[in-house]
Amino acid sequence: MPDRSLLIGAAWRAAKTHETIDVVDPSTGQVFESLARGDAADIDDAVVAARGAFDGAWGRMTAVERSRVLRRWADLIDAHLDELTALESRDCGKPRPAARVDAVCCHRYFEYYAGAADKLHGETIPFQDGYTVLTLREPHGVTGHIVPWNYPMQIFGRSVGAALAAGNACVVKPAEDACLSILRLAELALEAGLPTGALNIVTGFGAEAGARLSAHPDVDHISFTGSPETGALVQTAAAANNRPVTMELGGKSPQIVFGDVDLEAALPILTNAFIQNAGQTCSAGSRLLVERSAYDRVLGAVCDRVSGMIAGPVDAADDPNCGPLISAKQKARVDSFLERARGDGIAVAATGKLATGADRGGFFQAPMVFGNVPRDHFLAQQEVFGPVLAAMPFEDEVDALEAANGTDFGLCAGIWTADGGRQMRLARGVRSGQVFINSYGAGGGIELPFGGVKKSGFGREKGFDGMVSFTTVKTVTIRHG
Ligand code: NAD
Repeated sequence: MPDRSLLIGAAWRAAKTHETIDVVDPSTGQVFESLARGDAADIDDAVVAARGAFDGAWGRMTAVERSRVLRRWADLIDAHLDELTALESRDCGKPRPAARVDAVCCHRYFEYYAGAADKLHGETIPFQDGYTVLTLREPHGVTGHIVPWNYPMQIFGRSVGAALAAGNACVVKPAEDACLSILRLAELALEAGLPTGALNIVTGFGAEAGARLSAHPDVDHISFTGSPETGALVQTAAAANNRPVTMELGGKSPQIVFGDVDLEAALPILTNAFIQNAGQTCSAGSRLLVERSAYDRVLGAVCDRVSGMIAGPVDAADDPNCGPLISAKQKARVDSFLERARGDGIAVAATGKLATGADRGGFFQAPMVFGNVPRDHFLAQQEVFGPVLAAMPFEDEVDALEAANGTDFGLCAGIWTADGGRQMRLARGVRSGQVFINSYGAGGGIELPFGGVKKSGFGREKGFDGMVSFTTVKTVTIRHG
């Protein structure tokens, strides 16, 4: 793999330094592959290739031609779903069904943006007598895409699919812990006939390749998905060139449950919301806020369900609800959160189990529920990024909203009640980019604009708004008398 893990223009090649990065299987802790450790010099080459494509064959393509290339790519992804599922499952430690959802979503992003490419256009604006004013929706130019390790295929699809559909040329820096599916997707792009340089991939570390991409003076826009801390570094680097950024950052999203909830219907969704991808999900519903009169009943039902859940290797015979965490580093981070919480006397209300085979050296964490977590405790405020739920009661609607909005984050919220007026009051009052009523998550939600407020970031990806984010407006004023 090292010789082919950087895609610069039409060529796969090693890093200029010939350094590599080990690829570790999260289910076993064993190295099974290596990748090129691209750095600033490789990013510079990738940006030159992207600029060449934007100024050349790719930039000259009409919207309908771009749409057709993306459609061919989507069809190839669809034809390779099994292979992509297997790659993502091993590389990221995702149970097969979850990895399959990611592959299907990735296909849908390219299908969606292929269909959208020739439907984005400007407007005419009423102005003074004797003038016609129109706006052109133009691509930014060269766009940088920094991708995290938790949903590589989905995040690549939503970001690169939208950027290419809008006519940009892309340089992608996948996360060092999860690159394999993105590299395969790039091979399929070339097979689909994507012009040389429209897509470039530089695997490497964040502080090397990622930092250079963020700071590069010839990159016109950066789409960053990752932690709030790294997001701040990327913004600072891009600010030196006054370049626009989209920030898709973390969350501590509330599930607000009232006593009139249909608990049977809600239960699988409430639990899946915090264990999905072993809790390594930006939109995880990791805070359970329950009306006090129903608190014991709801928490008891959640705990019963979680006690029967299993974390284990992706190929475990007993079909795990959770795969491993991504890395030894992530496991140590989650462990330190749990230790601190226990040290602070926060009660563990339920713990799941580890599967047979979880002793083979992987990075496993059984799902856990903590009850009566004080609202200002770090477990109720910070992103654990593991399968850990913090539960707490609220008194009434006003108190529910105060608790829901009482963190620095604002990515998603779930509202569980049969009362229509209350649904809408809370949906309007909650500060977040997405709200789900009597549901949570959208199986990818390809068509649904997504992004945060507050520390969860700004700008929107997914849906048509996601493609608009990868364009800029040029106003043309014509005086014709
Ligand atoms: P991270 O911030 O550590 O890394 C994300 C990416 O940034 C990686 O590709 C990394 O190599 C790169 N990077 C690291 N340092 C960099 C630097 N100095 N300059 C430029 N790039 C750098 O995040 P992570 O641990 O990979 O992902 C987990 C975080 O991502 C969580 O906070 C999660 O909530 C967030 N996330 C958000 C969304 C969303 O859409 N809002 C989606 C998925 C994950």
